[in-house]
Amino acid sequence: MASKEELEAMGIKKFQCKECCRDITESEYKTYKGYCKNCYGKRKNIERRKEIYNNENNESENIEEFEDNGKNTVASIIKGIAVISAIAGVIVGLVSIDALNSGVMAVVIIIASIISAVFSYALGEIIQLLEDIKNK
Ligand SMILES: [Zn+2]
Repeated sequence: MASKEELEAMGIKKFQCKECCRDITESEYKTYKGYCKNCYGKRKNIERRKEIYNNENNESENIEEFEDNGKNTVASIIKGIAVISAIAGVIVGLVSIDALNSGVMAVVIIIASIISAVFSYALGEIIQLLEDIKNK
């Protein structure tokens, strides 16, 4: 077998596949971007599979975002209950001024309901943040 130098002296350049280092012809080298036919076919397959995989992932992500917009149902419900209980607590407190004949009792009811509502809302916010971390 002729050495690389001898071949080059004869005007024949040696081409090798980038993947398996097999000797290939110049036309093969150019057609398959530096790979032999086998390796080029393999690479093509892998790249196509990667593309399909990426597309599938993107699609499923998009569908998920479209479905629930990243909002956690439990967090939303807890936040809703917190707001409602705060409003209800204030109303009950104001109404009870007359019923109980005591301004102090009304203020206690209002403050207690607002504080509990704030904690409920904070719980809802924590659940939503955990959901956001999970989705990352
Ligand atoms: Zn090869």
